[in-house]
Amino acid sequence: MTAVRTRFAPSPTGALHLGGLRTALYNWLYARRHGGEFFLRIEDTDRQRSSEAHTQGLVEALRSFGLDLDGAPVLQSSRVERHQEVARELLKRGFAYRCYCSPDELAAMREEQRARGEDPRYDGRCRERRASRQGVDPVIRFRRPDIKEVVVRDWLHGEVRYQNSQLDDLVLLRANGSPTYHLSCVADDHDMGVRQVIRGDDHLNNTPRQLQLIQALGWEPPQYCHLPLLLAPDGKKLSKRDEATDALSYLRSGYLPEAVLNYLARLGWSRGDREIFSMSELIECFGREGLGASASRLNPDKLKWISQQHMKAAPAARLVEGLARQLERLGLDPEGGPPLAAVAEAWRERAETLADMAEAARWAYAAEIELDERAARKVLRPAAREPLVAVREALAELADWTAADIHACVETVAERCGVSFGKLGQPLRVAVTGGPVSPPIDATLFLAGRSATLRRLDRALAHIDKRIAAAATPAAG
Ligand code: GLU
Repeated sequence: MTAVRTRFAPSPTGALHLGGLRTALYNWLYARRHGGEFFLRIEDTDRQRSSEAHTQGLVEALRSFGLDLDGAPVLQSSRVERHQEVARELLKRGFAYRCYCSPDELAAMREEQRARGEDPRYDGRCRERRASRQGVDPVIRFRRPDIKEVVVRDWLHGEVRYQNSQLDDLVLLRANGSPTYHLSCVADDHDMGVRQVIRGDDHLNNTPRQLQLIQALGWEPPQYCHLPLLLAPDGKKLSKRDEATDALSYLRSGYLPEAVLNYLARLGWSRGDREIFSMSELIECFGREGLGASASRLNPDKLKWISQQHMKAAPAARLVEGLARQLERLGLDPEGGPPLAAVAEAWRERAETLADMAEAARWAYAAEIELDERAARKVLRPAAREPLVAVREALAELADWTAADIHACVETVAERCGVSFGKLGQPLRVAVTGGPVSPPIDATLFLAGRSATLRRLDRALAHIDKRIAAAATPAAG
């Protein structure tokens, strides 16, 4: 059986985007599923576009999503000497040659090819050159083998045949000695012992070139899997600049990492019609057989739905940490209100994200609340005054501030005042939370705490008094 060693090989030219995270996830899941290893290789040879900050960002992002690495990240730029050594080896064995063509010469060659209606490609004119050219630093080119076709075997695409005539003698080392992408990629995968290359579809057409290099070096090719693209909800190509493609933005907006990963796992992989998987279930179920070959569109509604299922199932401790962060984002002090675990319990069934939860619980942490105008007009009416006064008194005297005692107290007062539980509950809710929606009234008051409850009830009563006074004053004019 083939050993399992996968890698994620991003270029550090920006934040980790959703497509990259999905590629990383599939590699990680495949490795974890088979007890193999998962590596990170930072492809930072393009010094102009790469940055240390982005490298750190990628490492951090994978960590935030819980995709742990085997071994330290490999920096491709640190392996340049090894890439040069591989190029020299190919040169020595006749699989590569020095090419002295100048940029002008290459441009003229392409021009002629175009004029003849051919696809421009290097025609191999330096293949048999023996002598060097004075003052010209040559590039080193791969001498592609004289065979008819190259066959790429891919998990998703099956056998893909490339005519050798479609390929050309690719540059391995530039004139300044720097290695090109194909050489670095092939040498690194080999040295890292990578056995499965799971990457984006955009690399499928690179594979025949890489395979030819691997064969020339006498190495064993890895297995290939080229994943279809992720598309925007409207079916268009995803733009990397689009905010919605920044993977970490989903954590900032209050999605649990496991919800985002569950969602991404299902964009391109399935197991029957099952939608919800915990991380350990994903590891258990993930396999080649469930991979799909067609492009998937992002679907924000589905992400929300999956998120909600994970919110319901998450252990309280998991919600607490994220909730605290979201409250801070709202400028609220997570310590300045009810215990976070109680809030998490009260909202886990109804919140789609931790951000929703924090927003909904804002009133429990804010020093003061705003009354929602519509809700106040509807329920803080003169008729609510008497039951509210009565319940305020009873609540002030309640021995223990527990949900059960609060419930009993509200029930007794409602009965005494001859109103239904709901008729008293709704004005109470608007008085204490400012709005018409919150957990059951006993839980709501418990979370608000006694002193905030009484203070806000006084404010609501003042509001009602103002209404009564305004009704008694004849309108001007
Ligand atoms: N660095 C390439 C990219 O970011 C990936 C190359 C590979 O996976 O082989 O698209």
